[in-house]
Parts: sequence; structure tokens; C-alpha cells
Amino acid sequence: MELYEFKAFELSQMLNKKQISSVDLVSSFVNRIKTVDDKLNSFITLCAESALKQAETVDRKRLKGETLSLLAGIPIGIKDNISVKDVRMTCGSKMLENYIAPYDATVVERLKNADSVIIGKMNMDEFAMGSSTQTSYFGACRNPYDISRVAGGSSGGCAAAVSADMIPFALGSDTGGSIRQPSSFCGTVGFKSTYGAVSRYGLTAFASSFDQVGPICKCVKDTAMLFDVIAGCDNRDSTSADKHYGICFANLCDDVRGLKIGVPWELFESISQPDVFTGFKKSLKVFQDLGAQILDITIENTKFALPAYYVISSAEASSNLARFDGVRYGYRADNCTDLNDMYIKSRSQGFGDECKRRIMLGTFVLSAGYYDAYYKKAVSAAKLIADSLNSLFEKVDIIAMPTSPETAFSVGDKLDNPVKMYQSDMFTIFANLAGVPAISVPCGADKIGLPIGLQLMANSFCEQTLLNAAFSFENAFDGIQKPRL
Ligand code: GLN
Repeated sequence: MELYEFKAFELSQMLNKKQISSVDLVSSFVNRIKTVDDKLNSFITLCAESALKQAETVDRKRLKGETLSLLAGIPIGIKDNISVKDVRMTCGSKMLENYIAPYDATVVERLKNADSVIIGKMNMDEFAMGSSTQTSYFGACRNPYDISRVAGGSSGGCAAAVSADMIPFALGSDTGGSIRQPSSFCGTVGFKSTYGAVSRYGLTAFASSFDQVGPICKCVKDTAMLFDVIAGCDNRDSTSADKHYGICFANLCDDVRGLKIGVPWELFESISQPDVFTGFKKSLKVFQDLGAQILDITIENTKFALPAYYVISSAEASSNLARFDGVRYGYRADNCTDLNDMYIKSRSQGFGDECKRRIMLGTFVLSAGYYDAYYKKAVSAAKLIADSLNSLFEKVDIIAMPTSPETAFSVGDKLDNPVKMYQSDMFTIFANLAGVPAISVPCGADKIGLPIGLQLMANSFCEQTLLNAAFSFENAFDGIQKPRL
């Protein structure tokens, strides 16, 4: 077995026992990236040199006998909308093609304090808007299971690279499903925590009231290990929650006896791919066999979820993206006649079609005269859905559903039909609207071998319950084939 094939927690043990060095490890991943990423396009920026240097430093610390964290010396990929000091951060956009981040995001600072080795910045949909990583200015990212298919999005680069063993784990961001849906498409574990559990400082804002940074990993253990490092209050993010989790990794427990799992069956009429539904039902059987209790539940007002999410997220995006005006950051058009002309040309040339669509939609729903009719209504609808979920969590511990209504679709699909693309998020957005934690774990494959994801959600700040449920499932389930590249 090659070093790049191990899970992060296994690598951590090997490093700790000094069976391998971090330099060996980083070199193994860099070689792997150089051999396979041409096919997938999962990296926007590779930091091979600085990663090797950092690996040397960690190796020296270890030889000196310093006590190191579980992540020490292990490489990690960072989605390209998260600031890493002195490294280019493009957000998958021409707008920021040459932008060098002047500071570390809090999550990155915490990784660095844990001696984690940042190996590169991962491909993504432009400004995290999308479900396929096809809107990236740097080209589409491909699915390791079938390179004619998409990796999902918007954190497609993270999921594809973890799936293809180019990195052991990554940090992505999730506004409406961007960690979970690509994880479902690429056979990885993707975890979005409770809103406020992980700092957003240094994450480029898309829809600030939904955005969360989170892990994309090969297994639940690695997910817990990474979450432990990035979670926790940060006074540089005003929405950060003052919550202490303890150590989720050490407290992982695979006992779900008596756990109440609610299933909103009526939602699944919209699943067009029967394999996905079959895979989901088989997962419920696994839980039942483990002693969990499956209960029928109804989430109220679900038909408003997708419209509410797209109205609110576009409204926030139009405001957040106003800062990219050619003056302060990023791209500035040439040959402008005056200030207005410069704004117009810089934004017209710097943003891609999907960003422009959201900016226009968002500006429209916030404008005087339409605010009450659209934005305010969407906020009320979101509140109704959140209330419904919160009251369900008084009766059940977990809500289960497929992560995505389908498996990875072909590159090129849905690009000319934004509404179809938005429907990819029909199951993931609930957790963002309600701010609750959710995880996607691989739970099977379709007829042609593409991964299917199982999504589990829990009540706010019940990350440990959620991780335990996912961990139990993973231990009891046979797993899925790895991609062959
Ligand atoms: N696909 C969703 C969107 O396009 C979610 C994106 C995300 O979670 N960043 O808005």
C-alpha cells in the first residue's frame, strides 16, 4: 500500500511512531498529485515547495521530542475561498486570479498551530456558487470515478482530490450543500457543523448567514479529528458560538441502540434515480440492524426550501460581492473612461455568468418595492422550515435522507439550465436554513459504480451524536470501491 492511500488518523499514528517522516509523506502526495491531477483538475494552486519546507520543520520538532498534535506533519488541501497568508486565493474567479491573501483565516491559523501542512488550494465553483465545479474560471473539476462526470460542487476540488488520494483530507465550505454534495458524488465524508461552530473569519463571504467551513475526509474518524482542531469560538467572527465540544475524535462511539432516526418519506417523490432511493433504504436497514429506531416524520413547508434558499443566498451574495469593484481587490479592466465605466467593465469582465446571475437576482429581491414581496417572504419561509426542523429534533435524534437526488452527472449537463442545477441542493439546504449540523457518508453505488451519499442531520450543537451515528454506520457498512485512476 502506498503512503497516500492511508487515512489521516493512520498516518498520524505512523508519524507519531516515527515509522515515516512528514517529508516522506508530503513527497508521496506531491508525486501522486503530479501523476493524476492532470485528469481531474482538482488543484488551483499547488504549494509543493512550502509544504516540503514545513514538513521538514515538523520532522525536526518530532525528532527533538516535542509533543505534537494529531494533525502534525499531515498535508491538507484548502478550498480556494479560504485565506492562507501569502498564498494566492482565487475563489475560482478571474476577479481574484492574482490575489495574494495577506492573512490567515482562523481555521488556517488553527491548522498551522497544529503543525498541519498546507499542500495547496483546491478548485471550486466561482465564489462557491454551484453544484458541479464547472463554473470555475480555472476549468471544471472531474470526478475520479468517471472523468466524464462532474465532481459535484462547489467544493468539488476538495472532494475529488481526497477521493483520488491526492490529499488525505481537506477543508471546504458549505452554504447550501457544497461540502456534502461533492462528497456524495466522490465517495468521501463531508461534514458541515452547526452555524457558528467554526469561525468564518478569512472565508470569502458568499451568503454569510449560511456559510460554514468544514472537513472533507476519507472516513468519520478523520472528520472528527479535523473538526476538533477547527471548531471553537473566535472573537473575530461575530456569529461564532461560545461552545466547547470536548474532543469529538476521542469520544467517537459506535453504539446507536435506541437512537431515534426520523425519515421524511414524502420528500423522496422528487428522486429521479431509483438507485439512490434503494441505497438510502439499505442504509436505514443497517441502522435498524444496529438497534436504531426508524420513525416517520414530516418536515413542514419543504416546497419553499429551495426558493427561500436561492432568494436569501443571492441577496446576501449581491451585497457581499459588491466589494469586488476593481478598486480594492482583484481584477481591474483597462481603458476605462471614468469611475462608473471602470466598475462596470471590471465587474462585467471579472465575474462569470453564474455570479452575475446571482448578483442580479439578489439585487432585484433586495430592491425597494420588491423587498417585501421576495426577500422578506423568503426569510419568513426559511424561519418556518427551521422551526419545523427544530421541533422535530424534540422527537428524534437524527434526520436521515439521501445527500443528493442523483449520482454524479456528466460534465456539461445542467449548465444551460440553472434551475435544474439548483435542484441538486434540494436535500442539503435544510441544514443550512436551520443552521444545524449535517454529514454525508458514502452508502453505496449506483448501477455504473458511482457513489451514493447518505445524509444525516442532528440538532444544533449535537455534533458528537451526529458523528457517532455516522461512525456506527461506516463501521457496519461494507464501504464502496475506490476509484481507479
Ligand atoms: N449549490 C449551492 C449554491 O449554488 C450551494 C453552494 C455552497 O454550498 N457554497 O448556492
